[in-house]
Amino acid sequence: MTKPNIIDAGDVLVLGAGLAGIFTALKLAPKRVTVLAGASCAKENGSSGWAQGGLAAALGPDDSPALHLSDTLAAGAGLVDEGVARIIAEEAPDRVRDLVAFGVPFDRDDDGNIVLGREAAHSKNRIVHVSGDRAGAVIMDTLWHAVRAEERINVLSGLRAVSLVKRNGRVCGVYAVDDTADDLTPVLILAGDVVLATGGIGTLFDVTTNPAASKGDGLAMAARAGAKLADTAFVQFHPTAINVGRDPAPLATEALRGEGAVLINGDGERFMRDAHKDAELAPRDIVAREIKKQISIGNKVFLDCTSAVGAAFPDRFPTVFKSCMSAGIDPRVEPIPVAPAAHYHMGGVVTDHDGQTSLDGLWACGEVACTGAHGANRLASNSLVEAMVFGARISARILSKPARKQIVSGVGIGPCDERLLMPNTEEGERLVTKIRHIMTRRVGLVRTEESLISALEEFDRLRAEDDLPLDVFNMITVAEIVAIDALLRRESRGGHFRADLPSTDEDYAHRAEFTYGDLTERIAAQVGLERKAG
Ligand SMILES: Cc1cc2nc3c(=O)[nH]c(=O)nc-3n(C[C@H](O)[C@H](O)[C@H](O)COP(=O)(O)OP(=O)(O)OC[C@H]3O[C@@H](n4cnc5c(N)ncnc54)[C@H](O)[C@@H]3O)c2cc1C
Repeated sequence: MTKPNIIDAGDVLVLGAGLAGIFTALKLAPKRVTVLAGASCAKENGSSGWAQGGLAAALGPDDSPALHLSDTLAAGAGLVDEGVARIIAEEAPDRVRDLVAFGVPFDRDDDGNIVLGREAAHSKNRIVHVSGDRAGAVIMDTLWHAVRAEERINVLSGLRAVSLVKRNGRVCGVYAVDDTADDLTPVLILAGDVVLATGGIGTLFDVTTNPAASKGDGLAMAARAGAKLADTAFVQFHPTAINVGRDPAPLATEALRGEGAVLINGDGERFMRDAHKDAELAPRDIVAREIKKQISIGNKVFLDCTSAVGAAFPDRFPTVFKSCMSAGIDPRVEPIPVAPAAHYHMGGVVTDHDGQTSLDGLWACGEVACTGAHGANRLASNSLVEAMVFGARISARILSKPARKQIVSGVGIGPCDERLLMPNTEEGERLVTKIRHIMTRRVGLVRTEESLISALEEFDRLRAEDDLPLDVFNMITVAEIVAIDALLRRESRGGHFRADLPSTDEDYAHRAEFTYGDLTERIAAQVGLERKAG
């Protein structure tokens, strides 16, 4: 192996430049921080900039953190860690005030009060918006402005982390590569602490609202390094992605249903009224499955906003309006075709109340983390606040510790796993498409023991091939972690639905925590499938 170049990342290396990553970096002042942005265009490569709805925070006179907490607990289907959800509900208003201080222009009424919108499964109006549906884009623009003004924050674009590195058992950096190159030469990046903020896993499914960077790299790296993971079976499918054959699928925000938009099938019937007392505002998993049911019996499904929003569309929901118009649909006067799409991963890398993972030196926040806040199903608009609440907590903990003396040398660090250094190829792209199909059909919105086992068998066949490109190797690791956890959870709950076990089972009313190694052992013991952690 060639000797890697070494980069000194300073006090803290943040992996990922979404809201979780850059908010943490900003809060870490006066520490010297390097942010690894993954793809070359740092500003546009995460889900954060695409968020439409906004952030949930109990700011209204009739609202309270206790009510926000109780809605979060109800949505999470029995698996929410109450202590964590309470922290988020109590600290969310302060994190919104942080954004105001950075200059985020939240939508306000004539008296200057922040306007609070409603979304599914929230009992009060508590969603703060920016320019209608542009919350993510404007928040990220504002924070990037602040990052650029900070000399102590160095952003490295065009490098993708592939493996966490440890010295004396402590995580102290990563190997990273330029994954667009023909030859993946690893660079060793070293820091005092490492924060994982690499986002979600939506790209593992062939219909997703997530950007291409949401490949689950962070989960794969943490799994291979032996970190504790949890609840990886729980994937949230957004009910109303705009169904016009695009990848990623543009989103029709939940706020539209909050405004009174209704779901209809091709015959114009409002099918959600029969399915749930809250009709279109039922929890996401229920709405998504009802839409899937309609589609599987040959019906098309539409979100009809013509009465609820109508002519106000371009002002109120400019992002959705633009997506629709570019596909030849005028949502002011015609219903929008919709379908469920993989949207958010509730599971991830386990952290404590301060974002510390089970590995010394490694912290995690944002979608890659599993703090326990979302349980089996995330309440809408709770993820951006979770990312900021935990980014702030990680920063406070790191700032309160004595500074670590950093060793900028490769001594005591093993070489990069050669299997992570295979460039992506056209054949690799074919395999990626195949994995995404398998995940959607067998590990998606509806699963069975049979579908999950056959998915795992397919992944084994793929894994047996030589020299798998980086994307394929990583995606198989994550796909397998999701599928095995789904196989071991012998019940249905929240974002995990088993058609062969459709009821919730009290025996499973707990979070599932495991390492990658445990998972493969458990599957051998319980289902008789012999596997090896890859
Ligand atoms: C269309 C859409 C709308 C949404 N609307 C809302 C909403 O209204 N409210 C809400 O609360 N939530 C919403 N969500 C969810 C929310 O946006 C995400 O959960 C949140 O933004 C995740 O933030 P993050 O910083 O963890 O990850 P991201 O914003 O996805 O950022 C991840 C970063 O990690 C980088 N990265 C990935 N892999 C690597 C690697 N190997 N090496 C280095 N860098 C890497 C990426 O390039 C990116 O910079 C929405 C999501 C989508 C997709």
